Amino acid sequence: MKNNCLMNTYKRFDVVFDHGEKCFLYDINNKKYVDFAGGIAVSALGYSSLKLKEAIKNQTDKMLHCSNLYYSEPQIMLAQKLVQNSCFDKAFFCNSGAEANEAALKLAKKYAKKNKGAECFKFIAFKNSFHGRTTGALSLTGQEKYQKNFTPLMDGVEFADFNNIQSVKNLIAPDVCAIVLEPLQGEGGIIPADIEFLKELRKLAYDNDIALIFDEVQCGIGRCGKLFCHQVYGVNPDIIALAKGLAGGVPVGAMLAVEKFANVFEPGDHASTFGGNPLAAAAGNAVIDEILLNGILENVGEMNKYFLQKMHILKEKYSFIKDIRGLGLMLGMEVSISPKEIVEAALKDGLLILSAGTNVVRFVPPLVIDKKAAEEGFAILDKVLKNIKGE
Ligand SMILES: *Cc1c(COP(=O)(O)O)cnc(C)c1O
Repeated sequence: MKNNCLMNTYKRFDVVFDHGEKCFLYDINNKKYVDFAGGIAVSALGYSSLKLKEAIKNQTDKMLHCSNLYYSEPQIMLAQKLVQNSCFDKAFFCNSGAEANEAALKLAKKYAKKNKGAECFKFIAFKNSFHGRTTGALSLTGQEKYQKNFTPLMDGVEFADFNNIQSVKNLIAPDVCAIVLEPLQGEGGIIPADIEFLKELRKLAYDNDIALIFDEVQCGIGRCGKLFCHQVYGVNPDIIALAKGLAGGVPVGAMLAVEKFANVFEPGDHASTFGGNPLAAAAGNAVIDEILLNGILENVGEMNKYFLQKMHILKEKYSFIKDIRGLGLMLGMEVSISPKEIVEAALKDGLLILSAGTNVVRFVPPLVIDKKAAEEGFAILDKVLKNIKGE
């Protein structure tokens, strides 16, 4: 389907989706696809969650929106759930991952200006990272291809090497206000942080009164086997950015912070018209309840083992598979051939899967995926890989 009314910002595949069921999507010709992509790690509960659908329908009957000039119960409840199940004390809601990062940047900047002086505004980010497309978030994204057409960007960002603590120490200075990273790099190629690296960053940030900001937009909300990715590592950041899976497909973003930082925002400092509106928050409440109370984290643990087992069988079989890595249901398969070719062939054969970086096939299925659906997906993938290499 060609549509000339849509701006040319995506290299879209030639398929039009119509509806979903459990962990399958169906196109307008009713062709079925196994979903290992989850709408890029968004559709955490798949497509058949009654709890999520009911929450959205009920809220639709009450009101969709009321503005952040007033309180609404769903937003308060969602903030409470996020705060009660984490190291954080306060929440700010917005509508996307990029916006959650923007909020985090502003909070860290204000804290530093107030406590360390007007000259303290620099950020340390990481090569290969991805933080979103708005100017602030893009400034922190350590990939030239995303930045090059839009410079000059925000001033004062320096890039260290991921998992290399010395490269961070070399950049520490009195004018640094925050260190920003994905504890598990997503778009850059599914690269998990080393636990020692995160522990040393934590210490470095405390010692220098620098905000440690984790971008868990992709790896948070149950994706890595606990509610938050940093809980898998046991290393607490000061500020976190969330979005993608948080409302299971309804647009929402959140920035959470510990009291020391959260308290510096005052009325007028930051805002979002739609941020955490009753519809988005109702969906978020349903997702968090399902994840915490309905065995989804256990399923992620079990399915992590199952996916890894299947991926290692493929690695034994195909010599172009070089590495298998990741956490929970955020997994990557490094290949020495083009991952895009695999993604394209898989689509034709009824499997939705993603690439990441230049050489990784990325698996981010709904968190509710079961063995039967996974098996179907891996059977398709095996066939695709066999055809690509003629093995
Ligand atoms: C997707 C993503 C973003 C951007 O989220 P948007 O909702 O597209 O703005 C930011 N950070 C990470 C780690 C992401 O994966």
